[in-house]
Amino acid sequence: MQLWFEQALLPDGWAADVLVTVDGGRIEAVARGVARPRGAAAYGAAVPGICNVHSHAFQRGMAGLAETRGPAHDDFWTWREVMYRFLDRLTPQDVAAISAQAFAEMLEAGFTRVGEFHYLHNDVDGRPYAAVGELADAVVSAASETGIGLTLLPVFYAHADFGGAAPKPGQRRFISDPDRFAQLVAHARSAVRGLDGGGVGIAPHSLRAVTPDELAAILPLAAGGPVHIHVAEQAREVEACLAWCGARPVEWLLANAPVAADWCLVHATHLTDAERMGLARSGAVAGLCPITEANLGDGIFPTRRYLDEGGRIAIGTDSNIQIDAAGELRALEYAQRLAARSRNLLAPAQGDSVGAALFRATLAGGAQALAEGPQGLQAGASADIVALDLGHPSLIERRGDAILDGWVFSGGRDAVEAVWRAGEPWVENGRHRRRGEIAARYRATLRRLLAA
Ligand code: ZN
Repeated sequence: MQLWFEQALLPDGWAADVLVTVDGGRIEAVARGVARPRGAAAYGAAVPGICNVHSHAFQRGMAGLAETRGPAHDDFWTWREVMYRFLDRLTPQDVAAISAQAFAEMLEAGFTRVGEFHYLHNDVDGRPYAAVGELADAVVSAASETGIGLTLLPVFYAHADFGGAAPKPGQRRFISDPDRFAQLVAHARSAVRGLDGGGVGIAPHSLRAVTPDELAAILPLAAGGPVHIHVAEQAREVEACLAWCGARPVEWLLANAPVAADWCLVHATHLTDAERMGLARSGAVAGLCPITEANLGDGIFPTRRYLDEGGRIAIGTDSNIQIDAAGELRALEYAQRLAARSRNLLAPAQGDSVGAALFRATLAGGAQALAEGPQGLQAGASADIVALDLGHPSLIERRGDAILDGWVFSGGRDAVEAVWRAGEPWVENGRHRRRGEIAARYRATLRRLLAA
């Protein structure tokens, strides 16, 4: 298959009149300055697909259902109560239907791989399913149906709070023990084998949900794959951690866990200067979810200083309140602007484009966090390609990095024209090719769940 692009973002920068040859799901060759060959499909601007490193796909079904003011102070913890009620009745079929909708929307937004932080394990009454991977299989089937690259991150969750507190009733569908978790990870490895480019990591949920002994017991199960953990998302979580052990969550992790390049610390919102510098030095990735963090009122990650210190970042859609790769990068910059009352903060130097700086940083950080192979539009890499529509009102007459600024700050998901994942054309004219059937099943699922 040959694809021709007016412009393309290659590893060494932008090029014009680029012909990409794809074979067996991989990029075989990239040629620049080539006239469009007869028969080759022509598109606007090609950029590599990026990784969505943090998703809870089932939460797509409750997007917008927690936006009514409650009797007292609303925050992450009151949102979580709504989430617990929503997941109360989900069947494996519901999880598959909602996940497929979320994954199709991710591809339409320009994400070609998702790290699914999968923590729904048990039946509605909290009893384990007969098959340990019942709900993991629902996620895998959604990835298979939509074509998105899946890095499945089975979650270990055992407690309600620091110090091994007993779980709450609303957490009964998450709870596991190290033996059962080992079975789940083994199951996940065989389940993703049927996917093109499927991967597995592990996810100790948070220091609230996992004791130090349990963390030590499960870490070997990563077997070289990625380790993801929620950390320091909430000020109350930092206070509880201090009360438990005298250290802050990121401080504790850096001192007591082998945090390195294979780790992704999700959120890491509340950091001291020493924690921020330590995280940057560790080589781990900060998995930032700016739209969800804004929606939940979490706080603002110190992105500028962390990037200056060599820190690595990636983005995730987390609660899936909105699914928009460009929108996440925009929200990341806008939070800094509002806090600093200043503009163009996340471009490293004068003359640098903010959109391009954020896109490049999250392309590299996302691939690292999900342990992907060679990245970018180059021979040998997986053919994960996003074509942006240069006829979109926000992209007309743009060249080079201005295309990324137009996409990130204005066009958003509407500017995505086509998406290939492992060489397969999953999105054409902005629509996932199975959108009709996936959306119909999703609508029927939500009608039943929300009418009850
Ligand atoms: Zn999360």
